[in-house]
Amino acid sequence: HSTLLIKTLSRIIKNFEVIHENFTFELIEHKLKNSIVQISENHFEQIMIILLDNAVKYSDEIQKVDVSIEEDHDHEMVRITVRDYGLGIPEEDLSKIFHRFYRVDKARSRAKGGNGLGLSIAKQLVESYEGDIRATSELGKGTSITFSLPMIKDAI
Ligand code: ATP
Ligand code: MG
Repeated sequence: HSTLLIKTLSRIIKNFEVIHENFTFELIEHKLKNSIVQISENHFEQIMIILLDNAVKYSDEIQKVDVSIEEDHDHEMVRITVRDYGLGIPEEDLSKIFHRFYRVDKARSRAKGGNGLGLSIAKQLVESYEGDIRATSELGKGTSITFSLPMIKDAI
């Protein structure tokens, strides 16, 4: 249920707020109809943790992360975006960040730790629910990762 989805989202964000005290997390909630999203809470949480972890890890001076949740125009998908104001990703790397083990700048990324697996796992999870995930970014300005999940309209 979308109410449950927002509750889960708030809980995950609160956990990140506790761990990353210097960061500001904002949940931007657009109007949702009372629709059902078909995903297990565990998988949803796993996807969110991967995206929030990246947003924090690849931010620098501006330590702010916006999470927005909204329905697409025909109310068939719910769309969740995690936006940071960090390092950004060069245009030529954008399509590759969802590949297993791909990391943008080897030197930069090594210092941050990690295996280059997070986004490939997130993509697999999202796609297993017939959803999709994509990235937009501007180098030095920040990154947005958006994933969509199909919704079932309530009977009444
Ligand atoms: P892991 O998630 O396995 O700990 P990782 O963060 O390097 O390691 P991914 O989450 O798959 O792996 O991300 C792949 C690469 O995409 C990262 O190494 C980084 O270069 C780039 N990237 C991912 N998210 C962001 C972001 N929000 N801002 C800038 N670069 C990003
Ligand atoms: Mg990662």
